[in-house]
Amino acid sequence: MINNSPYTPTIGLEIHTQLKTKSKMFCGCANTSSKIGVEELKSNSHICPVCTGQPGTLPAINGEAVKMVVKTGLALNCAIAKHSKFDRKNYFYPDLPKGYQISQYDQPLCANGLLVIGDSRIGIERIHLEEDTGRLIHDQNDADSLVDLNRAGIPLMELVTKPDIHTAGEAKEFCQELQKIFRQLDVSDADMEKSQLRCEVNISLSDTSKLGTKVEVKNLNSFRSVERSIEYEIIRQTKLLSSGENIIQETRGWSDRDQNTYSQRNKEEAHDYRYFPEPDLPPINLTDEEIAHIERTLPELPQAKVARFVEQYDFSSLDAKLIIADKKLADG
Ligand SMILES: [Zn+2]
Repeated sequence: MINNSPYTPTIGLEIHTQLKTKSKMFCGCANTSSKIGVEELKSNSHICPVCTGQPGTLPAINGEAVKMVVKTGLALNCAIAKHSKFDRKNYFYPDLPKGYQISQYDQPLCANGLLVIGDSRIGIERIHLEEDTGRLIHDQNDADSLVDLNRAGIPLMELVTKPDIHTAGEAKEFCQELQKIFRQLDVSDADMEKSQLRCEVNISLSDTSKLGTKVEVKNLNSFRSVERSIEYEIIRQTKLLSSGENIIQETRGWSDRDQNTYSQRNKEEAHDYRYFPEPDLPPINLTDEEIAHIERTLPELPQAKVARFVEQYDFSSLDAKLIIADKKLADG
């Protein structure tokens, strides 16, 4: 049915990854991202005046997180910005006590990268650094929601692709390859079940050279749901367009239970967030030497390793992929 669609899907991805630094992005609290789901972590046990947004507190940049993003950018063939800065993204949400998130707006750390998946060259628009929000807990009882701020301030790396993806399978493969790369670089365990890796999909359909209206899909917590949600949207949008209806620009959620997407809200525009430079943090300046030093720490990347195993040991490409999926086996 998908192949019968007269429309070409254009897909872009936004991928958030929690970095495995020792401490949070702007304070000394421990980064507990690896503990979620593994052991019982007491709510609000790793918080301080900075990550809970108390008035009068000052953030400080976690240099380890900056290095991890630069390392990722280099591995993904990005240009690394020698000068960048943090910005405030203003919005209200109960899990964001400051009323703004510290992010990067017009000067991301990394831009214009590339990852080859099969025969497709998928461009990477940007990779930037920001802080994670807290977590709302709705399922304790019917009447109340609780907030846990252990996650607030954990370093979060956001990667945005160019709209270079055209099939659901390619989108899934891109996410899977990124997971391998992040693990090889040791910047994140990138476990989707623990929300260390979160994918969002932008998809539009068009039968002309002009791009169609973009729909964003969130709440994708497995590679399978990335693939299934795109397949679902291709069918849904094809039906609408074929019957002469318009696509609404909106954010939709994915329901694993019902295997469908559902409308959540109209999409915000950048100006809704009133971005402005973060006044409490200095700009980030990197020298050529610092960037070269990080580049020297890059390990052999998964795709290069597969190629080497095929060449050196005469493995099939599939066998080589299976072996390198097990880091310990491949390193030994
Ligand atoms: Zn803190």
